[in-house]
Amino acid sequence: MPVKLYLSVTRQPTFQTPGEPELSTQEDAFRWIEKSRDDMTRFMLELVKIKAVNVDFGGKGEYERGLFVKKWLEGLGFKVAKHDIPDKRTAEGARINLTTILEGRDTSRTLWLAAHLDTVPEGSRELWATDPYEPVVKDGKIFGRGSEDNGQAIGSILFTAKALKELELKPSINIGFAFVSDEESGSHYGVVPLLETDIFKPTDMAIVPDTGSPDGTQIEVAEKSILWLKITTKGQQVHGSMPEKGLNANRIGMKLALQLDEHLHKKYASTQPLYDPPVSTFEPTKHEANVDNVNTVPGLDVQYFDCRVLPAYPLKTVIADIESLKSKMEKETGATIEIKPIQNEQNTNPTPVDSEVVKKLQTALKKLRGLTTHAVGIGGGTVGLYFRRKGMHTVVWSTLDDMAHQPNEYCKIDNMVNDAKVFAHVALN
Ligand SMILES: [Zn+2]
Repeated sequence: MPVKLYLSVTRQPTFQTPGEPELSTQEDAFRWIEKSRDDMTRFMLELVKIKAVNVDFGGKGEYERGLFVKKWLEGLGFKVAKHDIPDKRTAEGARINLTTILEGRDTSRTLWLAAHLDTVPEGSRELWATDPYEPVVKDGKIFGRGSEDNGQAIGSILFTAKALKELELKPSINIGFAFVSDEESGSHYGVVPLLETDIFKPTDMAIVPDTGSPDGTQIEVAEKSILWLKITTKGQQVHGSMPEKGLNANRIGMKLALQLDEHLHKKYASTQPLYDPPVSTFEPTKHEANVDNVNTVPGLDVQYFDCRVLPAYPLKTVIADIESLKSKMEKETGATIEIKPIQNEQNTNPTPVDSEVVKKLQTALKKLRGLTTHAVGIGGGTVGLYFRRKGMHTVVWSTLDDMAHQPNEYCKIDNMVNDAKVFAHVALN
């Protein structure tokens, strides 16, 4: 049954009898969103052009992208709160975060729709068929860095906001719209400081459209703990022909990485079927450049591990284990090794699978798409972790092909449009 809601006089068509209140239904919202397909596409093309690589990865433009979103919302009549978090590394001296609320019939609680403004870098350009920052539309997809992660969510959320505002549909409870910085590098300038204020309440709920599945059936209710490690090995640099006079930091670093790889996988091997993948992962990833020439034995080696650990294991225990392997290696080789966690996020309680926000989303997906959903835990870290830490029941959901961080990243226009309908359904029911 469509929900009947009153519309203000400003949108009354001329054929209507004066005095008779015009009613708008949620079906109007779905139709309105469908009709906005071209506008949404145009919006995304503009958004992706504003390069917003996280400053931690040497980028800029996140602030500009934020201002673009702010102006857009203000154009609809929203009063947008801008929460700047100081960051001297940026031209603006701060990182931008935006929130705004559309009041519901019940104003005691807010359901937040949250997306992040920053992106990761494009990676190797030669892997891209088109310019990552000159988005193109092809076969119903928009190609460009940040189109799916997290541009699609920004588009879906903003057009949900626009549909509700223009049709003057009142949500059941407050709907909050949040656009945050720094998600790709720990949220230290994004939701983390924001959650220390009272913008978000523990009784609020959140939908974070930052991961999902191509068929939209996956609802993420839990995340693994995240541990990123920087491993610095110091040896002694010498000429390549006289290795015995020095201490090859590269070799020691590699040895340690292989030991960690084997030990951690063996020791933390338990599985939990809720999570995808169901195991803890420990991956040697980035390796910093060492010497510029072949004939020098490197005296310094800097490498990184990306670990996603099941909640059964406290990160403290994992770190202690890593430290003891490190000490052993130092003793064996005479090298000095420093292990520094650059992300250390212990996971928190999952969102209950029978919570209101999960049910709202399940109902919307059943009604609009006939889908039966399933709850999962993931290894990827989203702002969902921090919302849950505050006590907010949070789901991470969207419909996507999982193109995040890949070359030739794209967002399917269908997904952006149809997810907006889901958000409108969630808001109005
Ligand atoms: Zn993302």
